[in-house]
Amino acid sequence: MLPKNDIKLEKRLTTDYEGGTVLGHPKGLFYLFFAELWERFSFYGMRALLTLYMIDVIFQAFVDKDYATAAVYSSYGSLVYASTVIGGRISDKILGMRNSIFLGGILMAIGHFVLAIENNLAFFLALSFIIVGNGFFKPNISTFVGALYPDGDSKKDSGFTIFYMGINIGGWVAPLLCGWLAATYGWHYGFGLAGFGMLSGLLFFWSGIRSGVFGDRGMPPSNGVINHTFLGIKNKFLIPLFSVFAVPLIAFLLSSYKALGDESSMLGDQNLVNVIFKVIGISILGYLAYIIIQSNPDERKKLFVAILITLFMTVFWGFHELSGSVITLFAKRNVDLTGIMTASQTNSLNSMWIIVLAIPISLMWTKLAKSKKNPRTPFKFGMGLLLAGVSFYVLAISGNFANSEGLVPFFYLLLMYFLLSIGELFMSPVGLSKITDLSPKRIVAFMMGVWFLSSAFAFQVVGFIGKELAVESTDANVGGLDTLKIYTDGFLLIAKYSIGAGLIVLLASPLIKKLMGEVH
Ligand code: GLN
Repeated sequence: MLPKNDIKLEKRLTTDYEGGTVLGHPKGLFYLFFAELWERFSFYGMRALLTLYMIDVIFQAFVDKDYATAAVYSSYGSLVYASTVIGGRISDKILGMRNSIFLGGILMAIGHFVLAIENNLAFFLALSFIIVGNGFFKPNISTFVGALYPDGDSKKDSGFTIFYMGINIGGWVAPLLCGWLAATYGWHYGFGLAGFGMLSGLLFFWSGIRSGVFGDRGMPPSNGVINHTFLGIKNKFLIPLFSVFAVPLIAFLLSSYKALGDESSMLGDQNLVNVIFKVIGISILGYLAYIIIQSNPDERKKLFVAILITLFMTVFWGFHELSGSVITLFAKRNVDLTGIMTASQTNSLNSMWIIVLAIPISLMWTKLAKSKKNPRTPFKFGMGLLLAGVSFYVLAISGNFANSEGLVPFFYLLLMYFLLSIGELFMSPVGLSKITDLSPKRIVAFMMGVWFLSSAFAFQVVGFIGKELAVESTDANVGGLDTLKIYTDGFLLIAKYSIGAGLIVLLASPLIKKLMGEVH
């Protein structure tokens, strides 16, 4: 039996959430769960179609359509994650989380509906709407989850696991449905469904606000800066206005991809987005070096580790995010999907495995922790990279089992995603919480932004690999024996890099552990 005080504490933790409690968690979590589920439904439903749509429609007549597609996909991915840093900042300083989520959701829904128009200009504008919208939506919905729990509440971690499940339910169902609609009725319908998904997300969020479960959380900062005027316009109108103005500018950046072999400008074979990200990368590294110099010795060591794990994460996402580009193309051209699913639908496999594995793996950490055997972060990161490497090795050797048409059995793709998803669970959720532990309080928000940027930079890696593995052809149905070796050779190289990186991290882990001090 619990001592009297503990019973009280237990009671407080399970019943005392403002706005009500469901399953021991704040009721608001479930509104955010469904809002994010539907937002990710739209994000991943669209992503499942994106590469194939570019190849089949936007760049259809180009010989270097794979190359152009890889470039645009990479710019889109980099900008869609980089925008979250700006969206998070504007929300903290001016708009507040609620307004930002609405603004972001509306812009994203517009983007998805514009994508349903088959036209090149509409295409680039649509992607830009999604980039700006995601910048406002994604960081704020995640911070909102954290804000539902009082500081130090032990339920927070499991709250985030529930939330991560929501993300992946969206990521699992959407490619199946949007992929099916696109294949059966046409691209418009697939993209259109993604738009309705986003609107459903907003509806859930709105009903949460209506029912009062969020209390007064997520309001704009109390200093009233939202109503201050600039250029004669109130900030609350100015920011949406600027966001819409940013759309054509971003569309211009996205459409500045280059043709294969075009090195005519000062930028060589790099496009504008590549150059922008190089400049941002160098500036951030410079700024981090400055912060490290300014810190005391203990902070310095931890900060160094925080930067290291962010870099490892970038490498991991750089290979993982190939799923929406090179791996989707491999699935279309070289995997025997007859009677199973379409190439777009294979995008659901990662999320499917995350749903299956998230709870068992988090229970495994808890169990190991009880016997003091829970491995420390550097070990988990090393293993994550190693698993990613092995997963690509599986795809590389799948070529040996191809049929006479150059198609490999589906089993290899399924196994590849199984291993990659275990790797993801060893790194992504663990890293998120370690960043908060390892960063000095005064820059923890900035470090979160840097953590999100790891996904943005990863897409630069994705672009590089996508261009290297681009197949040159005007044939819409290129594939089979013509492409098999290009992909399997590429996957073998990725496997070697990832396994190599994993081994280096494992070898260095005793040293990294020392630098981490008391942080697990
Ligand atoms: N799958 C996760 C999400 O959609 C993480 C993706 C990422 O950061 N690259 O939120």
